[in-house]
Amino acid sequence: MRAAVIGAGIGGLTVAAALDADGHEVVIYERRDEPAAVGAGLTLFENAFAALDAVGLGDRVRKVSSDAITRMRAGQRLPSGDWLVSMPPAMVPLTRTLHRSELHRTLVEALPSDSLRLHRSAEVGRGGEPAVTVDGRLERFDLVIAADGLRSDSRTRLGLDRGVRYAGYTAWRGVTAVSMTVDEASETWGAGRIFGIVPLPDDRVYWFATESTSAGRVAEDEREAVRGRFAEWHPPILACIDATPADAVLRHDIYDLARLPASFARGRTALLGDAAHGMTPNLGQGAGQAIEDAAALVLLLRRAGRDGDVEAALERYSALRRRRTRAIWSQSRLMGKVSQASSPLGVRLRNGLLRAAPPAAAARAARRMQRWQQP
Ligand SMILES: Cc1cc2nc3c(=O)[nH]c(=O)nc-3n(C[C@H](O)[C@H](O)[C@H](O)COP(=O)(O)OP(=O)(O)OC[C@H]3O[C@@H](n4cnc5c(N)ncnc54)[C@H](O)[C@@H]3O)c2cc1C
Repeated sequence: MRAAVIGAGIGGLTVAAALDADGHEVVIYERRDEPAAVGAGLTLFENAFAALDAVGLGDRVRKVSSDAITRMRAGQRLPSGDWLVSMPPAMVPLTRTLHRSELHRTLVEALPSDSLRLHRSAEVGRGGEPAVTVDGRLERFDLVIAADGLRSDSRTRLGLDRGVRYAGYTAWRGVTAVSMTVDEASETWGAGRIFGIVPLPDDRVYWFATESTSAGRVAEDEREAVRGRFAEWHPPILACIDATPADAVLRHDIYDLARLPASFARGRTALLGDAAHGMTPNLGQGAGQAIEDAAALVLLLRRAGRDGDVEAALERYSALRRRRTRAIWSQSRLMGKVSQASSPLGVRLRNGLLRAAPPAAAARAARRMQRWQQP
């Protein structure tokens, strides 16, 4: 089968590499000059690796990631450094961390070199017919996969868009330029602010910081903006910020899909990744779900067989993936509301709830969500 993939993010690259490994011919269109590796570090859980394994990509990604986090004390802290709740290493669910650029490089390397068409913006046909328009030229395929991100133009053209929603907070991200010794992986929860510390494979540290605020604000020097907000918080927060080059600090306002599309497929065109279910980052599952989508789609097509009914496989894909991602999308939104609480009463309630939750129950709930079932 000949497939077109729109967008070379984590979702598009994963589905393209998996389709190629299954013997399909794949063309990926990416509007940027290089695959988008925006966003410093990344955490992937057991579900993402189960899905990568199912399409033969797991070991490649394991090689560029680290599970050191599972040997550390993990949990939520207060700005003073006191732990609100923590899990001993034995309870921490399987988690691996990596540089986003490494994941993109690994997935690109899994593809035939001529399949990636950079600097090419592609448009899907409005009715879901398997064709894309690139540089004014229409090209036909057997299947089109739109993995063009949260603000997917494909979703709109297919008549499946229901808008995006500002989540009420902004996020900064950075990776330290040097190795740092951290033996705990934590999120520190203050009033309307969070700071997260994630060790990476080369002992550098990926950190993220959030603040509840209105959308559209920018600072002249984003590192100074983060510094000013978190300077009084416990070590090694300030050290992480200071070890990050000022021009490498990223800032993005956080949006999710206001509502999920009624379907993830139309005709022989499928939505995949953030284009289908853009969610807030509070559960660290956006990329994981894009990877699950990719594996599910490829396995369903494999099951349909060479001359099978592609539209029926896509309908099955839509039903399965919509059910799974809808639950995670809404839990992630709820988690964002709770964790970004900023009023004194909201913060007291949130901290009380967290302290009352037995870590074993939290670990069990995380494991349930991080279980992937093959279609
Ligand atoms: C602060 C933050 C932290 C996060 N942390 C995690 C985490 O730890 N773990 C996790 O699993 N997820 C995390 N996520 C979510 C994760 O980053 C996304 O869910 C994931 O990157 C989505 O991948 P995608 O391929 O669907 O979309 P994208 O990465 O948005 O890729 C879409 C691609 O399509 C291209 N494109 C768009 N339109 C066109 C067009 N017309 N033609 C050609 N190309 C086009 C774009 O240029 C882009 O390269 C986080 C998100 C944020 C904001």
